[in-house]
Amino acid sequence: MTAPLAGVLTARPMRRYEVAPDLPIPAGAVGEWAALSEVLEVAVTPCQAADDPEAWWDLDRFEQACEGCARCPARVSCLAYAMAAGERHGVWGGLSPDGRRALPWRRS
Ligand code: SF4
Repeated sequence: MTAPLAGVLTARPMRRYEVAPDLPIPAGAVGEWAALSEVLEVAVTPCQAADDPEAWWDLDRFEQACEGCARCPARVSCLAYAMAAGERHGVWGGLSPDGRRALPWRRS
């Protein structure tokens, strides 16, 4: 069974869902995924439009990715999803995995 909304998004941080579209959205992050999906339906994000989208996955270039995230209309919902889902790889919402681990997180 496919998780709700899985595979809908094509932004680079969601590459895991492009590669494995049946990978379930973590149960604790379905609401955040839906919120992020709403933003991405109406906006093209820097990671989608980038000439070099692999920068979002190559931590040697994460500053380049973070510059893109800083002007992204999906930044807040992207980070909220990554935190709720416990995403361990790549840049989400302008933070590297280490940055996300250091961020105190509490669902509002
Ligand atoms: S905040 Fe960054 S990683 Fe998230 S959608 Fe925007 S550009 Fe992509």
